[in-house]
Amino acid sequence: MQQVKTIYSFFGPPGSGKGTLAAICQDRLGIKTLSTGEMLRKHVVSGSDFGKQIDEYLRAGHLIPDELMAEMVEAWILDAAKTAESLILDGFPRTAKQAELLLNFLATKLPKVAFKVFVFEIEDNVVIARLTERLVCSNPQCQAVYSRASKRPQVENVCDRCGSSLTRRFDDSASIIKERLSLYPHHRDMLLTYYKERRCDIEQMEVGSVTIAEVFNLFSQRIGIPPIARELAV
Ligand code: AMP
Repeated sequence: MQQVKTIYSFFGPPGSGKGTLAAICQDRLGIKTLSTGEMLRKHVVSGSDFGKQIDEYLRAGHLIPDELMAEMVEAWILDAAKTAESLILDGFPRTAKQAELLLNFLATKLPKVAFKVFVFEIEDNVVIARLTERLVCSNPQCQAVYSRASKRPQVENVCDRCGSSLTRRFDDSASIIKERLSLYPHHRDMLLTYYKERRCDIEQMEVGSVTIAEVFNLFSQRIGIPPIARELAV
């Protein structure tokens, strides 16, 4: 039975803080979140057939084929929709084709669900600086994110959450960052054009020069969380 009422999609370049905001919303507002990048990295580490199939794309900083992505995300939504009122898709859809597959899937399987897109706006130079400083937990089940510049762990190189060591993401190397950023504007333009054609609800958020607490406040305000609940959550 359908319980889910709203699905939020977070779309933005790598390093724009989608994952960080999604994790906070999950922890503090109880919104169930799927990070597609995180799920893909878990598959690679597990050595599954699917993991082997996608490994090369991840290493090159290229996008996984749309149909494979849509299948994986749809299975997750069907399961999560039974128990959660709101869901966040962190990093999906990323192409117009993925959006088309998702919207057709929702129209068929979850026709009453509202779909809302948040576009994270940030300049490339801020993204590059952030990704260069980013550290992640090496435990594939955790993948907590830190920054050498703005969010250091309590103990140098040790994850606050699970105690595993911290590392850099292999796709945060200078050459792969460049590749990921070079692909972004093309997909962004096509995706936003498609959303406009389908008259989707789209909100832009300027996230380059504000703190994550401010981004959280803005997002929760825009989704109608009352001020008192917002204050308790921060
Ligand atoms: P992220 O953790 O969101 O930066 O994603 C890491 C990598 O996972 C990307 O560079 C892509 O290779 C892959 N990926 C994540 N989400 C998607 C998606 N929606 N479509 C295609 N590839 C994806």
